[in-house]
Amino acid sequence: MSKMNIVLFGPPGAGKGTQSKFLIERYGLAHLSTGDLLRAEIQAETPLGKQAQELMSAGELVPDEVVVGMIRNRLTTDTDAKGFIFDGFPRTKAQAEALDNMLGKLGSAINLMLSLEVEEEELVKRLLGRGTTSGRPDDQSEQVVRRRIKEYEAKTALLKDYYAAQGKLRPIKGMGTIAEITGRLAAAIDA
Ligand code: AMP
Repeated sequence: MSKMNIVLFGPPGAGKGTQSKFLIERYGLAHLSTGDLLRAEIQAETPLGKQAQELMSAGELVPDEVVVGMIRNRLTTDTDAKGFIFDGFPRTKAQAEALDNMLGKLGSAINLMLSLEVEEEELVKRLLGRGTTSGRPDDQSEQVVRRRIKEYEAKTALLKDYYAAQGKLRPIKGMGTIAEITGRLAAAIDA
């Protein structure tokens, strides 16, 4: 069976992490979240974690080489996976090109980019709400939350054009109940 690789895309607070959980279960894919991997490095107090921590708490992106290196590790060790859900990666054009390159070397490719579309004020509300329980420093302040959304608009949103040019972009309405959004994602994958 050929592998299925999905980029689950959207701004911070769009629901990528929440929806990943359902998609992993339904399709048996492995979850690759660079945010989760970076938070694990911070937790373990590694040099990489220390390097990333300041940028993350300011709501800025960490350098491409750092996240590309983490993804390369996973892709080359987790070779039994039926495919991957990329969550929070790629976030720049350089990352997207590196990903195509790495998957190509493994005889694989991205099949779909599912892009969750959510209005900005709803994102701010969700992120600050999550901040009351997530323990994430970058969910605590409105200033940092808005900075993360700005980073997305400036450096990341343009990746929709990158994947649209390959015929892989599927915009998905990201407002509504969690179950409704899961239904829309599954319909796009099953098509
Ligand atoms: P996330 O958990 O996806 O919201 O990511 C949290 C933070 O980790 C981001 O605000 C960035 O500082 C950093 N980060 C996560 N993924 C990436 C990436 N692909 N490129 C650059 N920075 C990232």
